[in-house]
Amino acid sequence: MRVNEIFYSLQGEGSYSGTPAVFVRLSGCNLKCPFCDTRHETYKEYTDWEILQEVMKYSPCRLVVITGGEPCLQLTEELVNLLHMHNCFVAIETNGTMPLCDGIDWVVCSPKFGFCPNAGLKLQHIDELKVVYNGKGQDMSLYDDIRAEEYCLQPCDVGDADENRRILAETIDYIKAHPKWRLSLQTHKLIGIR
Ligand code: SF4
Repeated sequence: MRVNEIFYSLQGEGSYSGTPAVFVRLSGCNLKCPFCDTRHETYKEYTDWEILQEVMKYSPCRLVVITGGEPCLQLTEELVNLLHMHNCFVAIETNGTMPLCDGIDWVVCSPKFGFCPNAGLKLQHIDELKVVYNGKGQDMSLYDDIRAEEYCLQPCDVGDADENRRILAETIDYIKAHPKWRLSLQTHKLIGIR
């Protein structure tokens, strides 16, 4: 498996925000989003066993977040089963354009069909829908028919303090008007960790 990096931190976003997690970032993506700032291209080949050994360095942390790039390009049920055998809870962060392997415990989907052609959803089940919000011009009706356990709306970080304040205020307004959504902040950026 092509692994970009494995590191231990706190989950910064979404439902498990603040929870210690081992992040396994797999290399490669099937999309080219215009705003993508994830450096996932470089990699080293790992066997499933080598990934497990790396994850186990941070035992007893149980939460393992498989991310990317697009992790569904590579993730297999065999690796998920191996992690389960060692008491891990396996979450994935996906763009939702590819089928998932079986056994994943928590599916976080951040759809990209608003930004990329051919980014339609292929998932049967989503635990956490995560949408990056740009402000009140954004068409949120695109997400009306997507079923999930939790709906997380994340203000877009555009790298400008005034604009970020406006987007945050409009995100809060939207959530107050549509209370099935909850606020997701990139807390790792706020507190200066990975
Ligand atoms: S799906 Fe994610 S990793 Fe892939 S190009 Fe888009 S933002 Fe980047």
